[in-house]
Amino acid sequence: MKTIGLIGGMSWESTVTYYQVINQVIGKSLGGLHSAKTLLYSVDFQEIESCQANNEWDKSAVILSDAAKRLELAGADFIIICTNTMHKVAEQIQKAITIPIIHIADVTAKHLIKNKIKSVALLGTKYTMEQDFYKSKLIEKGLNVLVPDEQDRIIINNIIYDELCLGKIKPESKQAYLNIIDKLVKQGAEGVILGCTEIGLLICQQDYAIPFFDTALLHAQEAAWLAIN
Ligand code: GLU
Repeated sequence: MKTIGLIGGMSWESTVTYYQVINQVIGKSLGGLHSAKTLLYSVDFQEIESCQANNEWDKSAVILSDAAKRLELAGADFIIICTNTMHKVAEQIQKAITIPIIHIADVTAKHLIKNKIKSVALLGTKYTMEQDFYKSKLIEKGLNVLVPDEQDRIIINNIIYDELCLGKIKPESKQAYLNIIDKLVKQGAEGVILGCTEIGLLICQQDYAIPFFDTALLHAQEAAWLAIN
């Protein structure tokens, strides 16, 4: 079995999901008492969020590259960055190491294509919804990406940082997300990317009729699969 190197803590609330899902998949696949070989480097999210807010992406890349190097030195076979947003600096981190980073948007695109989705709604942080680093990975694979309007992007983003990353799950926030999804479905979305690893803590497939693509689940499942195949 390969050893999975996780860069987590962004936030730790969703890193818990990764750890659970990876172990569940490996346990189910191999049976018995099998569990995942993982190394976790969990950062102080306040430091990372300050870099985001101050537009200091290079500084965040240095912090995360250091984490990746330590994971490689400790024996990780590949790296999973447990957040969509920080894939903004994935290329810089990749340059610092020789083991591969499994890109969350590539994994998500693979599932969208498998499910024959052409137009997809993208929910995530303002960075993920507004900037190119994530959307371009989907667009280059022929997908049409719909993002909420500005007011709704603010609502989605604030709920992520002010609630979900702090472990606060509120019914009114869930309703706000579902209302925004309604609007995107009316614009032609055939599926919804839960493009922030905490969103799955608030809404899940049972809440809605069209397919959800929960990036934390898909990314964690891919990591587990790669570890044993
Ligand atoms: N976990 C989130 C994501 O998937 C947001 C936190 C962060 O900014 O990294 O984008």
